[in-house]
This record gives sequence, C-alpha cells and structure tokens, in this order.
Amino acid sequence: MGRPEVSIVKCGAYDEKAVYDAVTEALRPLGGMKAFVKPGEKVLLKPNLLCDSPPDKHVTTHPSVVWAVATLVKEAGGAAIVGDSPGLASFQKASRTAGIEQAALKAGATLAQFKNSVPVELGPGASFKNIEVASEVMEADRIINLPKLKTHVQMSLTLGIKNMFGCVIGKRKSQWHLMAGKDRVYFARMIVDIFAAVRPGLTIMDGITAMHKDGPQNGEPYPMGLVFASNDTVALDSAVTSMVGLTREKNPILDVAAQRKLGCANLDEIGFPLIHPKDVKQKGFVIPGQTELEIGPGMLRPYLRRLLVPKPVTKHSKCTLCNKCHAVCPPDAIKTVKEKIVIDYDNCIHCFCCVEICPEGAMVLHRSLLSKTISRMQ
Ligand code: SF4
Ligand code: SF4
Repeated sequence: MGRPEVSIVKCGAYDEKAVYDAVTEALRPLGGMKAFVKPGEKVLLKPNLLCDSPPDKHVTTHPSVVWAVATLVKEAGGAAIVGDSPGLASFQKASRTAGIEQAALKAGATLAQFKNSVPVELGPGASFKNIEVASEVMEADRIINLPKLKTHVQMSLTLGIKNMFGCVIGKRKSQWHLMAGKDRVYFARMIVDIFAAVRPGLTIMDGITAMHKDGPQNGEPYPMGLVFASNDTVALDSAVTSMVGLTREKNPILDVAAQRKLGCANLDEIGFPLIHPKDVKQKGFVIPGQTELEIGPGMLRPYLRRLLVPKPVTKHSKCTLCNKCHAVCPPDAIKTVKEKIVIDYDNCIHCFCCVEICPEGAMVLHRSLLSKTISRMQ
C-alpha cells in the first residue's frame, strides 16, 4: 500500500450521475479505479446490507453508490460481484428491498449471498488464532468495501472497519456477540481481527445521507453530502471520526485497529488531496452517549454499572410481535409472555442487536438520568 490517502468529495443527492461523478472524482487522486482493478479480476463489492430496509431509511449503502462503483469496476475491465450476509433477513430479500439487487444487475454485476465459511489464520497481534470468513470473500481477487456512515448504539460509529463484520456468515455473528459479552473492547478486537483477515484494498463510503443518533437502524437520517474514498480504511475511519467530533479513544474499533497498526490513524500522516476533514466538521452529528463500564470504587461497580449502562426496553405500542429480536438475541434473553416482549436483564449482554434489528423502532435504548448526565459531561 502506498501513502494513505483519503479523498472527500461533496455530493448532495442520490442521483446516479451525480454519485458516479462524485465517486470518479474521489478516485482520481488515488489513480482511478484502474489503480485497484485489473482486467479480468473478480472484484467483490461489500455494501452495508444490515437488513431488509428501503433506501430512503438510510440503513443500508445507497443503491446508486453500489451502481456507480460496479459500473466503474466494469469500465476498468473487472467482474463485479455484490455480496453480503445480512444478520437476519435473507440476502435476496434484503438486497431487493434495499434496491441493491436492481442496482447491481443494472451495472452488469452478479450477486452473491455469503454461504460458506473458510478458516483464515491470523498473524501476530491478533486476538484470535484463526477466524471463519465467507469463502466468497476470500476467493475474490479484490475487495471493495462500501460502508454507510452511521452511528452505532454499542460501538459509537459503524464505518469502514466495522463493515467487514458482514464477512462473517449470518448466524455466526450472534455467536461472536455472545463471546464478546458486555465488553466493547473485546468486541472491537473481534471486528478488527475480521478486518485484518479481509483487508479491503479500497473503501468507498456513502456519507451522502448518513445516520446519526441511535443508529445503525433506528437513528435519524443526517444529510452530510459527502462521499469518501481511501486506499486505507483505518485512515478513512480516522478522518470521519475526527469530523464528527469523536477522539480515536472513543471509537474502540478504530483504537484497536490503530494500536495494531493496520493502517494510519494519524491525521498528520494522511494525504487529503481534495477536502481536509477539519473543513467539513459535522457539529450537528449526534453520537449515542457512551458510558464507561469501569468507573467508581470496585465494590460499587456492579451497582453503578446497572445504573449507567443503557438497556434495551420495548415500546409495546409499536411492537408487532414479529420475533426478529428473539431470533437475533445471542443469549436468548428475550421471550414473549402474554403477547408482550419481556427481557431477562440478568442475561442481557447489552449487545443491542435487538435495538439494531427491530424494524418498528419498538426496541429502544433506555438510559438512566445519571447515565444521561454523565454522557453530557463527557
Ligand atoms: S420489539 Fe421489534 S423486533 Fe421485537 S418483536 Fe417487537 S417489533 Fe419485532
Ligand atoms: S436483550 Fe437485546 S441487548 Fe440484551 S442480549 Fe439480547 S439482543 Fe443483546
């Protein structure tokens, strides 16, 4: 990899031509798509396809971004394959609802649901010895990462590194959550191990309409009007993290990746050939409050933790009893009792998968007054 470069380009709408022009402009200082894709190569495009959500909800990478990148890959002589493994919905349903299936086919790309895993051995510095990643990812000649810029109730932000979590086959994601339990740093290490196993050569991020507040599914659209491209995902995530007013230490995934030197996290060492992140600071972007788990004297910690850690609660008036939260809960802490969702908080590991997946916005984060006050002070 050459010098880390992050291109930031303004783009105000999801009009296909405007997005194509913005992505082309972002790639120009990096050498264009031809610098990443050689004729005849199989190029896997990995969007954020969290669930079956339509494009106007801004939960998934917008189809016009997928179309533009797939078109550019084709123009460079590559064969584009758009693939993912959504956590709950089937790939077909999710990609169709998100408009990604139609966009991929229109651009002449094929679609691939990740079905099979292969073990990948991890080198020194990894938290795990080996990890299972979708074979469709490992068999590609090139990987282009297409994340959506969103907040994340558990991990603060979901950007380029986190998008690689989708390379773990659907249901195995729950097992990872279960293993990580309540420990955000442990979970960050798992995500970073997956990222290290995959290492996309190019990341193009959809920040045209981002998502803030309680993302990644039930936040609010945030018109940012930016497209990003980089040859270094860690550098890109560092730029975005600083733009939205977070330090590296408050983004645990970025922090772990930077400590492992999987890319450049020092803004002074990154090239910004077009727009510098300091010139596009996002003051109105709201990140879910984080409460540190290890505060106060040892004996009081369990009590303080209960008070400070946000918990999922159900808004019964919105709940349709669809059972999606049951299916996704790693420790099986959710039950339906007398036609109402009941959460066993003794077993809840605060992964917030239920909040992330609920299609009705009926599963929400509840923060105590003390937790809200501390978040405001941080
Ligand atoms: S809380 Fe949400 S995900 Fe769970 S059953 Fe109700 S609507 Fe479905
Ligand atoms: S109840 Fe929700 S937050 Fe708690 S473990 Fe289950 S999915 Fe995670």
